[in-house]
Amino acid sequence: MTAFRSRRVVRPGGTRPADVVVQAGRIDAIEPFGSVSDPGLIDLGELALLPGLVDTHVHVDEPGRTSWEGFATATKAAAAGGVTTLIDMPLNCLPPTTTVESLAAKRAAAEPKIHVDVGFWGGAAGGDLGDLEKLHAGGVFGFKAFLSPSGVPEFGHLVGAALDETLAETARLGALCIVHAEAPEVIDAAPAAAGPTYARFLASRPPEVEHAAVARLIEAARRTSARVHVVHVSSAGVLPLIAAARSENVAITAETCPHYLFLTAADIADGDTSAKCCPPIREAANRDALWLGLASGVIDVVVSDHSPCPPELKTADFATAWGGVAGLQVGLPAVWTQAKQRGFGLTDVARWMSTGPAALAGLVAKGAIEIGRDADLVAFAPDAEFVVDAAQLHHRHANTPYAGRAMSGVVHATWLRGELVDGQAPRGQLLERRGDDAHVA
Ligand SMILES: [Zn+2]
Repeated sequence: MTAFRSRRVVRPGGTRPADVVVQAGRIDAIEPFGSVSDPGLIDLGELALLPGLVDTHVHVDEPGRTSWEGFATATKAAAAGGVTTLIDMPLNCLPPTTTVESLAAKRAAAEPKIHVDVGFWGGAAGGDLGDLEKLHAGGVFGFKAFLSPSGVPEFGHLVGAALDETLAETARLGALCIVHAEAPEVIDAAPAAAGPTYARFLASRPPEVEHAAVARLIEAARRTSARVHVVHVSSAGVLPLIAAARSENVAITAETCPHYLFLTAADIADGDTSAKCCPPIREAANRDALWLGLASGVIDVVVSDHSPCPPELKTADFATAWGGVAGLQVGLPAVWTQAKQRGFGLTDVARWMSTGPAALAGLVAKGAIEIGRDADLVAFAPDAEFVVDAAQLHHRHANTPYAGRAMSGVVHATWLRGELVDGQAPRGQLLERRGDDAHVA
C-alpha cells in the first residue's frame, strides 16, 4: 500500500484536501485529509494531485517513420507532461494501422519501450472494409478517417459513398469513428497557400472548410446511426452544428487541441511553420469562441494532436512544410495557462484532458481519481510559472511553436498504476478495447 496526501485533490466533483490510498496499482480508498498513517505516504503539501491525463490523439510514427517520433521519446515526453495514457493514431507510421498485421507490428515496436500506457486507433482509409472487423476484434479503440487528403500518400481519404459505407460498418461493429473534418472541394476553391506568409496560409483553409465537412459528417452519421467524433476542431463555427445535431440525437462528440486554445494567428511569425497544422490556428475571436464551447460542453475533449516531424520538413514555406504541431509535453500547462486566466479550475481541465478522453475511448479504468480506477496520478504546481525551453522536451525533435512562451503550471511527478515514472524502466502497458472494460491488467 501507498498513499498520497494533497490539499488539492482534483476529482470530478471538485478539488478538495484528501488522502488517496493506493493498493496494487489501483485507487483503494479516498480518506479525509491527514487521516491516513502509512510509512509510504507521499505528502504533496500544496501541490495539486491530478488524475493522469489521457491523450487520445498522438502520432507516434513508429515503426516506419521513427526518425520523426518513437515510442520511447513520445512516452517519456507524455509522462513528463502528466499524460499517463495515450492512444496512437493509425497514420504517419509505416505501414499505417489499417490491418491486423500492422497493428501487430505497432504492438511489437511499442511493448518494450513505453513509459505510459498505450492503445491504438485503427485506420479507415477507404480500403477493404473487412479489415475494420478484424482490427475491431484485435482491440483497437475505434477508427480514424479523413474527409480530405491526409498528408501521407499511403493513408487515403474517404471519397463519395466511402464515408457512408465506412460509417455503416463502424455502426454495425459498435465502434467509434473519429474524423478529420475538412472539405477538399472548399480547400480547392480557396486561394492556395504559398510562401512564408501566415495570413496567406490561413486564407487557404477558411472556416468554411471545416463547416462543410462537419455538416457532411453529421448527415452521414444521421443516415447510418454511427457514433462519430470530430478531431481537432479549429473553427468555432462548427460548434452550433454539432450542438444542433446532438439535440437531434446524432451521436457526435468533438475535441480541440492546446494549440488552438493557447495560440492565435497573431502569435505566429511569418516563416514559423512549427505552428503549421490543418485545420489552422485562427484569430483571437475564434479562440475565445472555442473556450465558450468548452464552457458549454459542446467540446468534450482536449488532446494534443502531437504530430512531429524532422526539422528539415518544417521549411519556411507554409505551402510545403509538414503540417503538424509537436507539443505533447506542454499541453497541460498550455491549456491551464489560458483556463486559469478565463476563470476555469483544475476540475475543468481534468474533465477535458483526462475524464473526457477516457470516456471517448471507453477506458473505464482511467480518467479520474475514483475508487477502483488505476492510480495514474500527477503532482502539479498550478501557480508555478515557466518559459518553455525546447531543449527540455523529451520529444524526438525540439521544434515546437510553444518554445519561448510563458506558461503557468509545472508537472513535478507522474505515477503510473501507483509507481513513479522515472524515465528509466519502461513500465507502460499495451491497452486494448475489451467489451465493457478496456483495461488490460
Ligand atoms: Zn492528428
